[in-house]
Amino acid sequence: MSSNFKRREFLRLAGLGLGLGMTRTLAHAADETEVHSLPRPHTSYPQFGRLPLVRASQDRIVKETVGLRPFRESGPNLSHEKIGDKSVFHNYGHGGSGWSLSWGTSSQVTTEALSTGAANFAVVGCGAVGLTSAILLQRAGKEVTIYCKERHPNITSSVATGVWSPDSRICLKDHATESFADWWNTTCRTSFKFYQSFLGLPGSPIEWVDSYAVSNTPWDAERPKDPNDTQPEYGHFRDYVKDLTPRFVDLDRSENPFREPYARKGSRMIFNISAYHQTLLREFTSLGGRIVTRDFQSPSQFQELPEPVIVNATGLGSQKLFGDKQMHPVRGQLTVLIPQPELNYSFSNNDAYVIPRRDGVVIGSSKNGIIDSTNLSVDPRQSFDAVAAIARSMTQSKIAKG
Ligand SMILES: Cc1cc2nc3c(=O)[nH]c(=O)nc-3n(C[C@H](O)[C@H](O)[C@H](O)COP(=O)(O)OP(=O)(O)OC[C@H]3O[C@@H](n4cnc5c(N)ncnc54)[C@H](O)[C@@H]3O)c2cc1C
Repeated sequence: MSSNFKRREFLRLAGLGLGLGMTRTLAHAADETEVHSLPRPHTSYPQFGRLPLVRASQDRIVKETVGLRPFRESGPNLSHEKIGDKSVFHNYGHGGSGWSLSWGTSSQVTTEALSTGAANFAVVGCGAVGLTSAILLQRAGKEVTIYCKERHPNITSSVATGVWSPDSRICLKDHATESFADWWNTTCRTSFKFYQSFLGLPGSPIEWVDSYAVSNTPWDAERPKDPNDTQPEYGHFRDYVKDLTPRFVDLDRSENPFREPYARKGSRMIFNISAYHQTLLREFTSLGGRIVTRDFQSPSQFQELPEPVIVNATGLGSQKLFGDKQMHPVRGQLTVLIPQPELNYSFSNNDAYVIPRRDGVVIGSSKNGIIDSTNLSVDPRQSFDAVAAIARSMTQSKIAKG
């Protein structure tokens, strides 16, 4: 790769708004890009004659869910502390990226936990993060018991969209420092690599699908800020790992089957959460893992566990359990339609998105995050509008006209 290219890439990354103090990280990111991605030619395969329609209709709704993302201002807490004679390794606060980053943060935390030399480990929490931590400890030959208040399907991990979204609500923009970006880059790459080992398994726990994004306005057009949007500014790091996934390609009018004039096509990795959760659980139990129901009111109760080393993967539970003031719930609502086995692409327009999961067609509003809201009631208007927004794109597309 030419030094000119490296410089251009460096300057482009520097333009991401992460601040002038980030030069070392940005250079590192450019180097990563150089190592991992020789320029890849890409081909778009127009196939709209064969695209199935999303059957977005209100009477196909089978489930509406609300979950609270475990957002932490400065990013996940992966620190270590002694509580009495127990060593506690924290692994919580993954925001909207908990499934995506689970293998990455769990690899780091369990490597440290294993360095204690213990033979038995407790993991508190049975969500995406607790299960992956437990499995990594078992893969290292250790005995693991999971303790948790609740488990699938009654936890946040069960009500996630199920897409590779490794920088979603991962920290506040103010905390997007050089060292954070470096850490995120490494963690993200580790997690991504683990996920590729779950492809092609029975039940398709993880798969890649084509992905279409459409818009009524040009991609670079300024969008008016919604006056009701109270979201803080989050850190964004996605460009550091853009070499990991196929690029989105703009479609010209002859290739664009949708009613919206602007369309892009790419690919995205999705998590079929029911099947993926079962896959994780099967590995955990087949390696001798036990799950014990237990609700901890205070960290001092960790003293009562027989295991000397504990991984704390309690997600938003850590806000109360450890009094972590950096933790905030970020509410998210999803609408799930009857599965459509033939649906093989994800889709988004200006108002909503669709993920073709095997366990249900998941629809979310593009305004799907309210910070510090703990309201777990479904907002029927939000569900209705999101499904209607997808229906509009579908019924007026060329696919519908045949
Ligand atoms: C609407 C929505 C969409 C999302 N979409 C995506 C996505 O597409 N991709 C992605 O990567 N992420 C997504 N996320 C984020 C992801 O779901 C979370 O980051 C992830 O589930 C966090 O996992 P966890 O294991 O830390 O927490 P949880 O799943 O909440 O698990 C915590 C565990 O700890 C236990 N626990 C808590 N407190 C205690 C206690 N005091 N005593 C005992 N046990 C306790 C709980 O019972 C549970 O077993 C989404 C989240 C939401 C809400």
